Amino acid sequence: MIPAAFTYKKAGSVEEALSLLAEHGDDAKLLAGGHSLLPLMKLRLAVPEVLIDLGGLHELSYVREDGDEIRIGALTRHHDLEHSELLAREVPLLAHAAGTIGDPQVRHRGTIGGSLVHGDPASDLPAVALALDAVLVAQGPSGRREIPATEFFTDFFETALGEDELLVEIRVAKNPAQGWDFQKFTKRAIDWAVVGVAVAGDRVALVNMGPAPMRARGVEEALASGASPAEAAERAAEDTSPPDQASATADYRKHLAKVLVRRALEAAAARRA
Ligand SMILES: Cc1cc2nc3c(=O)[nH]c(=O)nc-3n(C[C@H](O)[C@H](O)[C@H](O)COP(=O)(O)OP(=O)(O)OC[C@H]3O[C@@H](n4cnc5c(N)ncnc54)[C@H](O)[C@@H]3O)c2cc1C
Repeated sequence: MIPAAFTYKKAGSVEEALSLLAEHGDDAKLLAGGHSLLPLMKLRLAVPEVLIDLGGLHELSYVREDGDEIRIGALTRHHDLEHSELLAREVPLLAHAAGTIGDPQVRHRGTIGGSLVHGDPASDLPAVALALDAVLVAQGPSGRREIPATEFFTDFFETALGEDELLVEIRVAKNPAQGWDFQKFTKRAIDWAVVGVAVAGDRVALVNMGPAPMRARGVEEALASGASPAEAAERAAEDTSPPDQASATADYRKHLAKVLVRRALEAAAARRA
C-alpha cells in the first residue's frame, strides 16, 4: 500500500518543528520513528499534506539523572530504553517493558514519545507511564507545561497534547526499591499484547482493556485496604471495556486481566527490596 502524496520537511530544532506546526496546522503531522504513523498513512487512515520529520532532533534523545528523577527525551528509541544502564538501575520497569515491544527492528526505530502521543490502548509504554506516575512535558508556542500521565490519555487514540505542541520529555521518579512487574500476553513473541499489566509499587495499569490506556483503580483500592494479590486481582476487570474480537473476546480478556494482574502483583512483591 502506498501513502497519499505529501510534502516532507525536516525540522532542525524544536523551535523549527513548532513553527512548521504553526504554519501548517491541521494539514501537518509530526514524524518520529514512523512505526505507527507510516502504517496509518499506507492505509490512508492518516493523510497529512505535510510531514515534519523530528528524526534530526538528537537533543531530544537521552536518558539522564536529575536528583530524584530520571528524565527521558521524547525521541529516545525503545532500544535505547531497553539497554540504558541508568534505567535498569533506577526505573527497571521501563527498561524491561521497552525490551518487549515488537521486534529489534521496531525497537530500533520507535520512540517513547511517538508511542505515548499515538495513545494506542494496545501499546505497552502508555500503561508503563501510568504505573510509574510519569509526568509528560509538552512544548508549544507559549512555552513548556507538565501533564501528569493520568491526565494525558483522554480517549481512543486521543491525548491531552495540543495540536500546536510537541512532547519533549518524560519524567519519572527513581524507584529501584519498589516492587515492579510487566506481564504481556501475546499469541506470538513479537505480537502486541492481547492484554498487558504494568505494576509499580501500589499502582497497576492495563494494556488493551479499554478505549484508552488505564489504571486498574479497583485493584489499587483493594491493595490499599490490605487485600492479598489474589484478592485484589479479582477486581482487575472492573470498569474495563476491552475489544471483543473472534481472536480474543472481551470476556476472555477480562479473565486474562485477572490472571495477569495476580501474576504481576506476586512478581512485584517478590522483587520488593
Ligand atoms: C510491526 C510492529 C510491531 C509493533 N509492536 C508493538 C508492541 O508490541 N508494543 C507497542 O507498544 N508498540 C508496538 N509497535 C508500535 C511502536 O512501538 C511504535 O514505534 C510506536 O507506537 C510509535 O512510535 P514512533 O516513534 O514510531 O512514532 P510515529 O509513528 O512517528 O508517530 C506516532 C504518532 O505520534 C506523533 N508524535 C511522534 N512523536 C511526537 C512528539 N515528540 N511530539 C508530538 N507528537 C509526536 C506523530 O505525529 C504520530 O501521530 C509496533 C509497531 C510495528 C510496526
